[in-house]
Amino acid sequence: MAKRSYTKTPMKEQAADVRNKNFSEVALGYTLEEGQLEASRCLQCKNAPCIQNCPVMIDIPGFIKHIEEGDLQAAHEVLSKYTNLPAICGRVCPQEKQCEMVCRLGRSKKFEPVAIGKLERLVADWALTQPIEVATTVHDKGKVAVIGSGPSGLTAAGDLAKLGYDVTIFEALHAPGGVLTYGIPEFRLPKATVQKEIERIKASGVKIETNVVVGKTITMEEIQEEFAACYLSVGAGAPNFMGIPGTSLNGVYSSSEYLTRINLMKGYEFPTYDTPVQQSKNVVVIGGGNVAMDAARSAKRLGAENVTIIYRRSREELPAREEEYHHSVEEGIQYHWLSNPVEYINDGSGKLTAVKCVKMELGEPDESGRRRPVVVPGSEFIVEADTAIEAIGQGANRVLLDTFPELQLNKWGYIDADPETGQTSIPGIFAGGDIVTGAATVILAMGAGKIAAAQIDEYIQESVPVQ
Ligand code: FAD
Ligand code: SF4
Repeated sequence: MAKRSYTKTPMKEQAADVRNKNFSEVALGYTLEEGQLEASRCLQCKNAPCIQNCPVMIDIPGFIKHIEEGDLQAAHEVLSKYTNLPAICGRVCPQEKQCEMVCRLGRSKKFEPVAIGKLERLVADWALTQPIEVATTVHDKGKVAVIGSGPSGLTAAGDLAKLGYDVTIFEALHAPGGVLTYGIPEFRLPKATVQKEIERIKASGVKIETNVVVGKTITMEEIQEEFAACYLSVGAGAPNFMGIPGTSLNGVYSSSEYLTRINLMKGYEFPTYDTPVQQSKNVVVIGGGNVAMDAARSAKRLGAENVTIIYRRSREELPAREEEYHHSVEEGIQYHWLSNPVEYINDGSGKLTAVKCVKMELGEPDESGRRRPVVVPGSEFIVEADTAIEAIGQGANRVLLDTFPELQLNKWGYIDADPETGQTSIPGIFAGGDIVTGAATVILAMGAGKIAAAQIDEYIQESVPVQ
């Protein structure tokens, strides 16, 4: 057997100075041979820790073994038992904090962990080139409504359809997918891939009704009358703002608006699509998470000369995925660490011309355990900017919640649901994903969807009168 490589098999990527001018995918995927080489690094551990650290407990050594043998069909059959969205997870899951973090190979110091996410992507991309299998399941066990078509809703709906339920997803926007469609940019997650995985969920019998805002277009009362149970997976899509002077100036965006214009409304293809985004020269992005990286890298691709991320903590505390940070640096994004904006400056005609910032230093740890940033007195400085994008987190969207006061919320305004079951304060109404946890990750939202599907099945079966 060939000697096991210390490092992961590299995945080909577009060169940084090419990709920062287009929206095509950065990482180009493994060939079968590259995948087999990487799969051969797996130790096939007994009681594999990678499985325990995966929120949907995928049989990781199981599907990797089939890749090593060159049998992608068998690898896909293993993956399909656990996930309806493998091409998405293979691309955007924070594997370095989950399965790959505990990989026994990686724990041996000399070796990098197995590239589990990249192998998942290989199998899933292959599967998407195969004909769609139309399900033969009979959907006669009852009607279930799913509100919101992000990864949580799609997962719950897919599992419920497989269990024999007649499932309808109601989605407020004109396209399904939630953040996968309107938030994460094309260059990290191609929309054609998202749509293909959604088509497969539809082929399992799930119906999706778009342009339906539950709470406005239809009420929760109407949903409760028609459906035996309901899963609320409406995400946490309402942007937070810093609320500093000048927020209403032209050129100040929330990351939600900026990314939605680009991803969902194809602003980068203006005038072919009718939703322009501002042509910028100097862009400032505020925040340090994946959303900030996505906004900054999108601005660069739209032609901005200078894109600077302003983050109030230091490089060590940056919450974004390591890979996204490295990609951003390669693409020419600059950073102001330990800095915070205090005012957007008007050019005199209502347009943004600069951002006034202060320097920060790290004090005592706050309730999150991270050291709290405090302002350094007299440290003001100015960053020239015609566009500022705030990416400082999102909260619960109130549209549905305000029309459904019976539903108990927690102190942060998210739905109070049992994390073990997804059960809310109202019988038959379950909830999960970002609307319960606050902004989190795709795989955690999917995990919640899986739990809820099993619990909804149990709930409906227990409610069916014995003949
Ligand atoms: P969402 O994906 O938010 O979907 C909720 C859906 O419900 C939306 O389509 C919304 O339109 C719909 N809806 C809301 N209200 C109603 C209503 N009243 N009626 C009908 N429909 C309604 N996570 C990762 O794991 N990796 C990443 O790299 C990553 N990058 C990210 C980048 C960005 C820019 C953002 C914003 C998030 C990112 N995340 C990432 C987080 C991840 O996308 C979310 O945690 C995940 O999408 C949450 O899934 P969800 O199904 O709970 O909600
Ligand atoms: Fe393979 Fe790593 Fe999982 Fe072990 S922990 S089975 S080496 S992927």
